[in-house]
Amino acid sequence: MTQKVYVDPDKCIGCNTCPLLDPETFEMDTTTYKAKVKKQPADVNSETVQNAITSCPVGAISIINE
Ligand code: SF4
Repeated sequence: MTQKVYVDPDKCIGCNTCPLLDPETFEMDTTTYKAKVKKQPADVNSETVQNAITSCPVGAISIINE
């Protein structure tokens, strides 16, 4: 089982916070204006990823098991 970062597009309001906090992991989709995972981080528990998760105003970012 692998842990992955997931952005729920139904929850994301496109505030641009997560790409600012962790531009290596997140980017804005210029078509939908929602955030998406640009590249899965080497460590989903890293401070930058966790900071993005807790900073999302609508709780759209989570860690999923695949
Ligand atoms: S912080 Fe949350 S609401 Fe803002 S762009 Fe990222 S996923 Fe979307």
